[in-house]
Amino acid sequence: MPNPKNPLSDPKALSPETQLVHGGVHRTAFNETSEPIFMNSGYSYPSSQHAENLFLNKIPGAHNYSRFANPTVDVFQDRMALLEGAEAARAFATGMSAVTNAVMSQVRAGDHIVASRALFGGCRYVVEDFMPRWGVASTLVDGRDPKNFEAAMQKNTKLVFIETPTNPTLELVDIAAVAEIAHAHGAKLLVDNVFATPLLQHPLQLGADLVSYSATKHIDGQGRTLGGIVLGSKELITGELHTLLRQTGPSISPFNAWVLLKGLETLPLRVSQMTASAVKVADFLATHPKLERISYPFHPSHPQYEVAKRQMSAGSTLVALEVKGGREAAFKLSDSLAVILISNNLGDAKSLITHPGTTTHARFTEEVRLESGITPGLLRLSVGLENADDLIKDLSFALDQI
Ligand SMILES: *Cc1c(COP(=O)(O)O)cnc(C)c1O
Repeated sequence: MPNPKNPLSDPKALSPETQLVHGGVHRTAFNETSEPIFMNSGYSYPSSQHAENLFLNKIPGAHNYSRFANPTVDVFQDRMALLEGAEAARAFATGMSAVTNAVMSQVRAGDHIVASRALFGGCRYVVEDFMPRWGVASTLVDGRDPKNFEAAMQKNTKLVFIETPTNPTLELVDIAAVAEIAHAHGAKLLVDNVFATPLLQHPLQLGADLVSYSATKHIDGQGRTLGGIVLGSKELITGELHTLLRQTGPSISPFNAWVLLKGLETLPLRVSQMTASAVKVADFLATHPKLERISYPFHPSHPQYEVAKRQMSAGSTLVALEVKGGREAAFKLSDSLAVILISNNLGDAKSLITHPGTTTHARFTEEVRLESGITPGLLRLSVGLENADDLIKDLSFALDQI
């Protein structure tokens, strides 16, 4: 048992690396070191009176059904909340169920959403296609200039939704500026923080009300499971969002929450190594004659380099590159690689490359793709844990084949 007189017995006093190893743990009577996996769906009670009290919410922290209350899922939520500096969190089966429920928790028929148009494919689908079917209108704007959000706000705008850096072009949205605009109009700001990871950018500190993750990406980071999480104030998380989780059931399996917990323990090591390699890869690619341009937030050539430096502590584990020669050249590059795999996933220990125009963004028209910077020669590279020199050799060989 930690000594309560030691100031480090307060988990908030710990550094992120330490929080991610110890945060949220409640040991059982067996005093296990690693977190236990509670795969049970239900719970039994010592008496009918106890059951009644529990269902009347008179027993704080009690568990009554694993759809919305499970000890292993609790540890994942508590550890993430500690890292994010959030009052509360709810985990979901996937990143998409996390985002969809975060959006739904803030709007009802007759409301309006403003979102940046450069969103992960599924997120854009929710805002642009699903929400209007239920009577929630949406306006998509070019997120690079905060003025575009101001111009799109309406009397009934309840939610502003952004992703930064964006998928797949790594454009940025100024979180603090957009938070101010949203709040001036009485709307909440939701930030999908997947590309930055919870370590490199802190949306809640910059003014966001809710932050969401696909835990499938860096948090697992080893290609084993899907998962998602939403964090924010106690009011926003334990209110409507918890009710949606409880009553509609997009719940995470306790086993998957446990896998993600193990991922959190090594997250800082993996993200810092992958980011250091991404910087090396970006530096190598930036001057390569076969490329039109690269996009990396901490590379001085990034048009929003100044915003990156202001709101991020490093440039992320992803690099976007535009090959001269369009789709044919981009395919040639990808197909000539030996170490980097062709895959639309990201944030993984294995380096992954994807051609967004023909995969993640294939359903959009060429016109819509181009307005989001998704040109035929664009590739998105997720830098993994391999030796950076091997990655550069792999890319160098493949570029020479074009
Ligand atoms: C992957 C991803 C999602 C969706 O997460 P899933 O776990 O695949 O459902 C949402 N937003 C961003 C930015 C992502 O990269």
